[in-house]
Amino acid sequence: MTSTDGVSIHPAVDHGITSASPGFSGGVLTCHCASNPVKVRVSAQTAHNHVCGCTKCWKPDGAVFSQVAVVSRDAVEVLENGDKLEAVSPDSPIVRHRCRDCGVHMYGRIENKDHPFYGLDFVHTELSSDSGWAVPEFAAFVSSVIESGVDPSRMDGIRSRLRELGLEPYDALSPPLMDAIATHVAKRSGALPA
Ligand SMILES: [Zn+2]
Ligand SMILES: [Zn+2]
Repeated sequence: MTSTDGVSIHPAVDHGITSASPGFSGGVLTCHCASNPVKVRVSAQTAHNHVCGCTKCWKPDGAVFSQVAVVSRDAVEVLENGDKLEAVSPDSPIVRHRCRDCGVHMYGRIENKDHPFYGLDFVHTELSSDSGWAVPEFAAFVSSVIESGVDPSRMDGIRSRLRELGLEPYDALSPPLMDAIATHVAKRSGALPA
């Protein structure tokens, strides 16, 4: 039995996961700047919320994982101080838009219409003071935390802690999301009827 004492995943889950509010319809994300923060309205509940170990998602200080969810891009609107936003690696499939002063990522957007997840933006709902957001359901790209400098010897403890929290660890996305990507690819290639 691996000890999971002291294994920190992300502040939103380390003390247990709360629950989403039925009928919740969104809130406002605010960056970490003390003055003139960037504010982004997300006017819908999110889907597929999860913790992510990849090196691209924004993580709060000290967190091993990010927490990230998707929502229709139509539901994302920059409210204030949008002039502080800058694109992180504009050529990557998901272009994250961060506050250039505090570094917090406000939303990630896909511009390639052929991408399986085109139409969805990636957001970090912990940036909202509203409660009732959809809770994380799984852990994605778990092995990738090693790329951020986590010692491989810690992985058993990290995976045990994720399971204890009910966040099944995967080294890619969850099976339903991987199936959605593969279905998109198969329809484009003709292997499945479009
Ligand atoms: Zn900021
Ligand atoms: Zn990620």
